[in-house]
Amino acid sequence: MRYTRLFGKTSKTAPHDADSKNARLLVQAGFVDQLMAGVYTYLPLGLRSLEKVKGIIREEMDAVGGQEVLMPALHPKEPWEQTGRWEDPGPEVMFRVQGRGGKQYGLGWTHEEIITPLAKKFIRSYKDLPFAAYQIQDKFRNEPRAKSGLLRGREFSMKDLYSFHCDEEDLDRYYEEVSQAYLRIFGRCGLKAIVTEASGGAFSKYSHEFQVLTESGEDIIFHCPTCGYAQNREVSEYRAGDKCPKCGGTMEEGKAIEVGNIFRLKTRFSEAFGVNYTDAAGSEKPVLMGCYGIGPSRVLGAVVEVLSDDRGIIWPKELAPFSVHLVLLPAKDEGVTQDLITAADALYQELRDHGIEPLYDDRPDVRAGEKFTDADLIGLPLRLVVSERLQAEGSVECKERTAADALIVKRDDVLGEVQRFLAD
Ligand code: ATP
Ligand code: MG
Repeated sequence: MRYTRLFGKTSKTAPHDADSKNARLLVQAGFVDQLMAGVYTYLPLGLRSLEKVKGIIREEMDAVGGQEVLMPALHPKEPWEQTGRWEDPGPEVMFRVQGRGGKQYGLGWTHEEIITPLAKKFIRSYKDLPFAAYQIQDKFRNEPRAKSGLLRGREFSMKDLYSFHCDEEDLDRYYEEVSQAYLRIFGRCGLKAIVTEASGGAFSKYSHEFQVLTESGEDIIFHCPTCGYAQNREVSEYRAGDKCPKCGGTMEEGKAIEVGNIFRLKTRFSEAFGVNYTDAAGSEKPVLMGCYGIGPSRVLGAVVEVLSDDRGIIWPKELAPFSVHLVLLPAKDEGVTQDLITAADALYQELRDHGIEPLYDDRPDVRAGEKFTDADLIGLPLRLVVSERLQAEGSVECKERTAADALIVKRDDVLGEVQRFLAD
């Protein structure tokens, strides 16, 4: 991608109204644009990174047997009345929309009311179980305070997986499998998530949240650094300094961002919609369910909160919108020569021919300092610089976003160097 053609650019100053680091950096670096509180447009850079988060989630959900579906965002009122959630939490959470003739609809903030009656159409006997279906879709929530950039939106991206089982044992087995998949997802996104016990709703003692420690987090958790055991403060019987009930270590208090949450719903929704199956002995039983959420947009915000420095974002390789930032560097006063442009264009083409898509800062009239500031702000993992001086000696400068120093690499070795870096 040529920077001169890119829709959405960096700006020299941070947005004045950003209330968080992720909003400030993502807007300033040209990844997103705020439409109103809690609602963002993803520009090409932001969308590429968001799609990478979703791609990782898809791979890991498919690996645990999840089958992707796409349910509507516009919901009829009736199934919500059937579970009681049209009224409670009702409009506190759900945006209601009025259609023709005064007919009422709601915008989906979760999908148990849609997936459970849907599953009922296909479940007859134990032979149809277990199965799991997920979607990645925008959710709408009437959040009282939409803030912290992508961390708390009124429209935001969610992956929601729902699983259906014959008995509690099978639900427990799958719940654990998904929990492991979640840890892989967050790890690939560069986040260290702590599995945290939290309130479980009506049907189980605990749900499990995946919490990422950071000062900008809204949640407070008590966690044991020795064994990793953790509880959300909202449910917790612990205090900082208490003995860890699992290993005897010392519980610490920390602020954290909830990036995922998994629940054993058991029969809460299957009973509401009468979803039963016939077991091997011929008797009818209620289906047990689990549900498992991750907010890809919140994950993106959390990555920026956790992995950035005073110069900008530091993308993990798997989430960077482009893996290489190729810079055509003008000489101090002369600008760029046609020879230099030709050399940089050739490197750009060579990388693309090998399946590496660079962001190419091909601006002929922008000074080195500004280009480097932009590269650090955007935060791609690797920066390559083509300059008159290096060109004269047949080499290219190569610098990792997190490294203090650059390497000078022979022009012929650049491709191999980049490939090695990306493969690590
Ligand atoms: P919170 O307690 O932060 O309001 P929640 O517990 O209501 O979130 P869940 O219903 O568990 O959220 O949703 C599953 C996941 O969706 C969350 O773990 C989070 O990653 C994401 N999510 C929830 N609400 C938002 C939001 N307003 N903006 C962005 N992501 C969200
Ligand atoms: Mg939650």
